[in-house]
Amino acid sequence: MKDFHCTCGQRIYFDNTHCLACGRSLRFDPERHTMVALTPSESRGPTESEATLVDEAGRHFRECRNRTQYRACNWVLPASEKQPYCRSCRLNKVVPHLERPGNVRHWTKLESAKRHLLYTLIELGLPVRSPKETDGLGLEFAFLEDSRSNANVRESFVATGHARGLITLNLAEADDAYREKTRQQLGEIYRTILGHFRHESGHYYYELLVRGTHWRSAFEQVFGDPDLNYQQALKRHYTKGRTNDWQQHFISAYASSHPSEDWAETWAHYLHMRDTLETASAFGLRVNVPTSTRDIPLQALVDQWVELTVVLNALNRSMGLQDAYPFVLTETVVTKLRLVHQVIQAASQ
Ligand SMILES: [Zn+2]
Ligand SMILES: [Zn+2]
Ligand SMILES: [Zn+2]
Repeated sequence: MKDFHCTCGQRIYFDNTHCLACGRSLRFDPERHTMVALTPSESRGPTESEATLVDEAGRHFRECRNRTQYRACNWVLPASEKQPYCRSCRLNKVVPHLERPGNVRHWTKLESAKRHLLYTLIELGLPVRSPKETDGLGLEFAFLEDSRSNANVRESFVATGHARGLITLNLAEADDAYREKTRQQLGEIYRTILGHFRHESGHYYYELLVRGTHWRSAFEQVFGDPDLNYQQALKRHYTKGRTNDWQQHFISAYASSHPSEDWAETWAHYLHMRDTLETASAFGLRVNVPTSTRDIPLQALVDQWVELTVVLNALNRSMGLQDAYPFVLTETVVTKLRLVHQVIQAASQ
């Protein structure tokens, strides 16, 4: 993530909505991929009743409807844009029942992590389009509840997952206590909302960029057969558990369950790396990461990443916290990351 500043000079963050120093409204402009400091404007949007905001350079913007209705979004649209939702919110297929107490708060957390995911996807030059915006496979999101957290819902179990471009997340993942309990039950060392989104986006981009393309055979060489029986593989993983030497070959125990899960876990790690290295670089740490993905060799990224995570973990330990990055990159894992890197480089627009 880049380091952003308000017009007044104050350091600001991706999720901010108001500058505490000067009071300007802060929004993210996905067209220019940056935060903008805005003040109310006299001019109106496409519907006359709609207020617009203006930046220092005189560019006019409209609020996303999820900002005006629920304060759940901080992305803007060009003032001339007719559609009500921003580039992130228009990818929503299903949102939870927002009349239910607590749901807006939880959903807002999911939306925030989703925007963070999209920031990195756009930064890497990957296509981010809703089904309406593409002839190919579009990206959509569904945020659902099940009867474990809401007795009024008929569905008894909503699993986080991906199917044909639709990423589904259980709203309960926004509940820290639920997520931590699930993390312990599954013996995971890392479970975050952003991690879920990054993982599921890996399944989407496999469908879009790998399946049915010339990358398919390289995938099979590095990850194995993606068409292995999925249900059987997952069942085996959850009943028999992980092998003792999984760390030699996989980035996480879950990655060892099926080649598709291995790809998605490796993809998620690649996004963790790219975003965290960008943040480190933006805040002046001695990492040298070009913004373009085209030229940089994977090994250079990995070397800087290993150096950075050693420091990151040491800092966390000094604060009495657990390691921020509890993973090991073996040669096999680096080979897998290299394929992800190559696929993204080739797709980068
Ligand atoms: Zn300011
Ligand atoms: Zn929005
Ligand atoms: Zn998965």
